[in-house]
Amino acid sequence: MQILITNDDGVYSPGLAALAEIAAGLGIVRIFAPHVEMSSAAHSITSARPLSYKSTPLKDVEAYRVNGTPADCVALGIHQWPETRLVLSGINLGSNLGNSVWPSGTLAAARQAALMGVRGIALSTPGAGEEYDFAALKPAVLHVLEFLLPLERLALVNVNFPNKAPRGVRWTRQSVRHYDGKIVPGHDPLGREHFWFTVTPIEDVEEGTDRWAVESGYVSLTPIRLDLTDEEALVRLQAKPTVPA
Ligand code: MN
Repeated sequence: MQILITNDDGVYSPGLAALAEIAAGLGIVRIFAPHVEMSSAAHSITSARPLSYKSTPLKDVEAYRVNGTPADCVALGIHQWPETRLVLSGINLGSNLGNSVWPSGTLAAARQAALMGVRGIALSTPGAGEEYDFAALKPAVLHVLEFLLPLERLALVNVNFPNKAPRGVRWTRQSVRHYDGKIVPGHDPLGREHFWFTVTPIEDVEEGTDRWAVESGYVSLTPIRLDLTDEEALVRLQAKPTVPA
């Protein structure tokens, strides 16, 4: 199986190297990843200038760095390697839970694969503080990939690992009750006002959600769909047309 690996942390991320090493045991691996960090780039694509890529020697893996976003990397990677059967995105340095799936470049890369008819799996972990022990995480990542690969109808999955050896694996839904995005004002060294777009911790998470699973020590597997239509609203609105004839 031909496996394209990407991420949003950039081609030199240890999470990308760890994922490529694990995936090498499952198939033929190629890396197309952003040349710089693109975290929170969401599903942006580069349309105002051309894309290009350069070969980037990474341990035993054919790898290319792309001057584009995570979604660009996947579109370009599949174009250059049409045999691609699976896109793995990550392992992201930081979890992608709840409403974080909107800004996440990690998930967007996997979603770009699904849009192009290729299976996409996004993988993230919160780490412990600034420390990421990918050697310790490796068996769990391999276990999850071996579990997911035969589930061929699953086009897009968001996988989040806890920051220690997992207690097990749970199918979850995206936690949407709270939004954790927040603007925090500050000042630069010259006294000028600036602002950080950051997140605040969320407590009181609902059982069965992605956030609950990871906080409870499980690997969270969330199947993600491409159709964002509000089905409930659609049925309600179509039953009682309010649009002009
Ligand atoms: Mn990232």
